[in-house]
Amino acid sequence: MPDSVVVLTVHGIGAPKRSLDPGEDRTWVTVDQFERVLDVAVGRRDVRLTFDDGNESDVELALPRLLERSLTAEFFLLAGRIGRSGSVDEAGVRALLAAGMSVGSHGWDHVDWRRLGGDSVAREIVEAPRRLAELTGRPVRRVAIPFGSYDRVVLSRLKEAGMERVYTSDGGRSVPGRWVHPRTSLHDDLTQAAVAGLVDPPRTVKATARRAAARAVKRWRPAPG
Ligand SMILES: [Zn+2]
Repeated sequence: MPDSVVVLTVHGIGAPKRSLDPGEDRTWVTVDQFERVLDVAVGRRDVRLTFDDGNESDVELALPRLLERSLTAEFFLLAGRIGRSGSVDEAGVRALLAAGMSVGSHGWDHVDWRRLGGDSVAREIVEAPRRLAELTGRPVRRVAIPFGSYDRVVLSRLKEAGMERVYTSDGGRSVPGRWVHPRTSLHDDLTQAAVAGLVDPPRTVKATARRAAARAVKRWRPAPG
């Protein structure tokens, strides 16, 4: 096993089939950009692929291209969006699983987990993975935090809910065996030249220290007042 891996996050590919939130279009890539990323990931044991938000493009565009290259990925779905227009439906979930992909939770409604109150805590952290487990017929114990927004309260809730792996969006390398794993998101401005840098981020002491410090601040900060 490599000593560290780079985990990439794909949101949407091609033309969105639902209305996007403000700024969300920045996380959508073209089919061409997506294929270039897949091509550099082929044969790389230190590159992992994840998909967030459960967009229809996961099944329509990503799945056939992953299969063509014998790649697997983890799909973090929103329990509350399954079957809605533009999102993966139950047949799509079955297609992902049948193709050897795995499914994790991205919550219920795509909201900021640092700002949950009342019933939304249980819905986002506990009920979403439970619903996805019912749908897939397998335990769902991995989560990708929406917007990469977390603090010590969010992490302690996820631990309490029995989550075994937590993905953030902090960038940099992820160390196998740890509980929290940083990821790097694809953006619409991804150039061909930048694709190589995506899977080989700098290993310099300075870059590593900077990322570790930023993660420590997030991890220990209290909930917003
Ligand atoms: Zn998301």
